[in-house]
Amino acid sequence: MTGGGVCAPQWRRGPAAAAAPARYRPRRRLRHFRPPPGYRNGAAPGPERAGLPAAAPRCGLSASRRHQAQAGKKAPGAASGSAAPPPVPGVRRRAAGDPRGQLAELREKIRGLEDDNRQLREQLQHSRAREEELEGQVSSLRTELQQSQEERSRWQREAEAQAAERQRLAAELQERHRQLEELREAARDREEQLGAAQAELREVSGALSRREAEVSELRALAGAQEEHLHALEMERRRLHNQLQELKGNIRVFCRVRPLLAAEQEAQKGLEHLHFPPEDNKTLVLCRTEGSHTGRRGEVRYDFSFDRVFPPGASQEDVFEEIALLVQSALDGYPVCIFAYGQTGSGKTYTMEGPGGADPTSWGVIPRAVRHLFGGARQLEHKGWQYSFSASFLEIYNEALRDLLGGDRGGELEIRHVSSASKELHVPNLRCVPVASEDEVLGLLQTAASKRSVARTALNDRSSRSHCVFQLHIQGSNASRALRCSSVLSLVDLAGSERLDKCQASGQRLRETQAINSSLATLGLVIMAISNKEPHVPYRNSKLTYLLQNSLRGNAKMLMFVNISPLEENFAESLNSLRFASKVNECMVGTAHANKK
Ligand code: ADP
Ligand code: MG
Repeated sequence: MTGGGVCAPQWRRGPAAAAAPARYRPRRRLRHFRPPPGYRNGAAPGPERAGLPAAAPRCGLSASRRHQAQAGKKAPGAASGSAAPPPVPGVRRRAAGDPRGQLAELREKIRGLEDDNRQLREQLQHSRAREEELEGQVSSLRTELQQSQEERSRWQREAEAQAAERQRLAAELQERHRQLEELREAARDREEQLGAAQAELREVSGALSRREAEVSELRALAGAQEEHLHALEMERRRLHNQLQELKGNIRVFCRVRPLLAAEQEAQKGLEHLHFPPEDNKTLVLCRTEGSHTGRRGEVRYDFSFDRVFPPGASQEDVFEEIALLVQSALDGYPVCIFAYGQTGSGKTYTMEGPGGADPTSWGVIPRAVRHLFGGARQLEHKGWQYSFSASFLEIYNEALRDLLGGDRGGELEIRHVSSASKELHVPNLRCVPVASEDEVLGLLQTAASKRSVARTALNDRSSRSHCVFQLHIQGSNASRALRCSSVLSLVDLAGSERLDKCQASGQRLRETQAINSSLATLGLVIMAISNKEPHVPYRNSKLTYLLQNSLRGNAKMLMFVNISPLEENFAESLNSLRFASKVNECMVGTAHANKK
């Protein structure tokens, strides 16, 4: 690589050349000149050796100088030796000491030297160009080297990074292997669990299909039992109705109230009233009367009813006797219960109770409602759903008034539900849905505050109107497409006292006449129904007209005849008992439940 550049520094800086006098320096230089190895035999150095192009100029001398140089080399001491120099071809020999010859020789030498000099200059130029070229190559090779080194260090860094990455990946792979192993372990556990669960599932599904079979058997049994239950329920209703019919579709109960604290001073006992022991159906009124012959003697008036309640009978005792009748309303029969008697005989007490929260004092209305709600709940198990709504009105002087206070104004009129229907209703009457006994007690309080109470000579709180509480019952059995509806009417009649005793006049007289007339009509209607007369005078009073659907053939009626225990009311009691006896003689035709 540096072969081509070796000759110039050797030639230029050689110590002999520096020391030689300026004139001979070229010669000496030539003597000491050594061509580079590639030029020694005149052959160009190979490109593989010198890194030069094959056509690079040779570092050489003219033929004569080369010859001299070779001669000098072969015989270093020849210049100063005794042997004569060999003849130079083409140069004429001069005799020694010939100045011309010497001059020519010198000139010849000078020309040779100038040739050498020129060649050497060219050579030098070449060498410089060559040097520059080589320096260029060196610098490009250095650049290449630097690049290679940079590249090598980059590769080294990359290799290091890759080694680190490989290490990381190896660690990760190891971790993954470990995790995989764990997962395999877990999978084996899961498989075992799955196997156990499948075995359990097979067992459970076996048990389930056995249970399903049992359930379908039970369903079939339940269906059959439901059928049976329904048949039993229908049979119960039939027998219940039969029982009520045997008891009579018109029943009369007599109730004698106890003496009030204020009355006990004036009257010590109840001598005029006899309740034969062992017989709860008979009441005997006794008093001493003068006969038409003028003899005075005790006269007995015997009355027999479906049941007689002496003064000690509780509200519960009374209701117990009518509970089954009330039950008929749930079965679809219209039920109508009246309280008849003179003012102060205990009608309101029997129907509503004295008021207050104590349930033991509740009268027929709250107890009946409670009984019906309870009965409806029991029938839910047999597929029956019931809804209830209540209305409360009074008939005063043959005019209707809503006691539940709808401020709708206008008179209440009794109308047919439709022109084709025999069913009656009062269009503007407020009908309140009820679902509990408490709601009904609230309605009774509302009604009590609105009742028409007029002062009479007999009783400060004489009730001068008929009060009609109606519970409308709707029942349905969806699974059997059965529906029933009925009305339970609980009527607190106006006082039945006679006109003369009231000392009434004017407005009071008209009140009393209206009351007496409507009570008389009630008796007549019941008798006409009982006798199956073609014409029943329902329209003769608002009361009977309003209640006609609850009095007809398929209805069940019960009348309480309330009796005052006061002896002074003997005549009124006698009247009431006679009226009730007439009713008691009536027999209303076989009832039919109002079913669809
Ligand atoms: P009516 O409504 O027939 O005019 P009431 O029901 O107002 O009569 O009764 C008059 C009075 O007698 C009231 O003070 C009432 O509390 C009382 N009374 C009625 N029946 C009974 C009874 N069975 N036990 C206790 N007090 C009674
Ligand atoms: Mg009353």
